[in-house]
Amino acid sequence: MNAKANKNQGSCIEPSYYQAVTKAIRTQAVQILKEGTVAGLVGYLPGRRKGTARPALITTPEEAEKLIFSPACVNNLSVYLTKSKKGVLKQGRIGIVAKGCDMRALAGLMGESQIKREDLFIIAVDCAGVYGSGAERSETVTEANIARKCLECSVHHPEGADFVAGSATDLSGLTPLEAEEMARIEALPQAERWAFWKEHFSRCIRCMACRQVCPFCYCEQCLCDKNRPQAVESSPRPAGNTAWHIVRAMHLAGRCGGCAECERVCPMDIPLNLLNRRMAKELKELYDYEAGLAPAEKGPLTQYREDDDQSFIK
Ligand code: SF4
Ligand code: SF4
Ligand code: SF4
Repeated sequence: MNAKANKNQGSCIEPSYYQAVTKAIRTQAVQILKEGTVAGLVGYLPGRRKGTARPALITTPEEAEKLIFSPACVNNLSVYLTKSKKGVLKQGRIGIVAKGCDMRALAGLMGESQIKREDLFIIAVDCAGVYGSGAERSETVTEANIARKCLECSVHHPEGADFVAGSATDLSGLTPLEAEEMARIEALPQAERWAFWKEHFSRCIRCMACRQVCPFCYCEQCLCDKNRPQAVESSPRPAGNTAWHIVRAMHLAGRCGGCAECERVCPMDIPLNLLNRRMAKELKELYDYEAGLAPAEKGPLTQYREDDDQSFIK
């Protein structure tokens, strides 16, 4: 049963839409847990504070009755399914609640052999958007409090799921703030662009929250933690910070699905998704490649082709 959405009138989604999605998720989750289709399910439960949500692994139909979907369901739950999170997938086939942007990460992780499609039951959400970081929270989701990524989402009607909760959301006509900011920075002279990023990188405290939340930062030993020999200075000083951000951007180029979780959790408000998007744009222009649209074993930066453009090598 699909929940029917309110039309996005005046960029405003009513709470009743999220309630209907919640109901559909609960019904489906109870069914697949009762039938034994899955051993557990990663979804959202209410947080301790009113109006919040928290990720949870549930294993019983009784717990499934408490699942929610609300604008506070910001986390990309695919991060719990990588091999580095030992234990979750060992339980057996796992259900997962996924927004469209989370599904891009799932496709990427399938391509990188972190998870197998047959080990998942995907309950996708026809998504009406989630709250932005620090945005004023109200009963309704509006253009003023929705996450920046949702302002120009192209994947909120998910495809390839086992079940879709909700339907007919319309997120068209919103102001693409991030695209505008990217165009502004691209138009700056090189020295000013460098000054922009230098200032942002200088505020990085190397808490590594952006790494911990990223579904694609699953290496058991991160190059940036290695100290014998040390590849990247680990204390928050300018040279090490710049190196860390270059390593992060390059390791995620062609893999990042754009969930913007890294930017959401950054305590220093560094616009990491601008870098992610810029790298994605390069990949699209150079290789006509977009990460996360379908499982792909290797992106353009991790495969060799004889017809690759070599002209930049002098
Ligand atoms: S980016 Fe799209 S799929 Fe992701 S939370 Fe926003 S509206 Fe939903
Ligand atoms: S979350 Fe922000 S402050 Fe922390 S390491 Fe990443 S960029 Fe730096
Ligand atoms: S780099 Fe950021 S936006 Fe990209 S997949 Fe990782 S957390 Fe998501």
